[in-house]
Amino acid sequence: MHARKLTLEELIRADADHDCGGSGACVKLVAAAELPTRFGEFQVVAFDSPTDGKEHAALIRGDIFDGEDVPVRLHSECLTGDTLGSLRCDCRDQLELALTELGRHEAGVLLYLRQEGRGIGFANKIKAYQLQEQGLDTIQANEALGFRGDERDYEVAAHMLGTLRVRSIRLMSNNPTKIDDLAQHGVKITGRIPLVVPANPFNRRYLETKRLKAGHLLAELPPLTIHEQVDSMARDAANGHAGAEKAA
Ligand SMILES: [Zn+2]
Ligand SMILES: [Zn+2]
Repeated sequence: MHARKLTLEELIRADADHDCGGSGACVKLVAAAELPTRFGEFQVVAFDSPTDGKEHAALIRGDIFDGEDVPVRLHSECLTGDTLGSLRCDCRDQLELALTELGRHEAGVLLYLRQEGRGIGFANKIKAYQLQEQGLDTIQANEALGFRGDERDYEVAAHMLGTLRVRSIRLMSNNPTKIDDLAQHGVKITGRIPLVVPANPFNRRYLETKRLKAGHLLAELPPLTIHEQVDSMARDAANGHAGAEKAA
């Protein structure tokens, strides 16, 4: 514990004057502290990014410095899912599953990236939800607002891993684009750890869109079985009558 903390302190000192310059993404490690969580003991690290103006976080478990094959999860901020418990996406389930997994490992990292709504920001995400209520899927809605289906960029994440001296990773992801994008930014990926969360009636279409249109490595969802106790809203959503399922 003591040695790890010292190492992080050293990294913070080493990063004090860090600046990549130019137009590429740059982040600076600015603070670190112990963070006991319901998923286990972690250290939380704050990164400041002069390039995107965001403050990113890393949740570190165990000794990852100079580590090989370190389990890594990249999580993009989702206010509605992570914090408010929305069922329109699977972000919170993914986050909790990843942290539970990491809690079982001796070492690992979760990077919490402040790119809300696949990079389009909170207000635009809610606008996209409005469009989804009119029948568009999640990718069509982003495109209707003038964005790409996915505006996320993992250059910052690659930089964060470099700053933390992680040598190679096993990526916890179902998203091949994420793997390619990280590799393009110089991250050595030695394996993939799948993360599979069960669908709910509200996020089925969202998950199917990710599988079919964004190439996520997810199993085809079985036909929905609705139990008697599921309320009428969920039933309507499953049948595609209400806005809820279209919105997912
Ligand atoms: Zn930099
Ligand atoms: Zn979400």
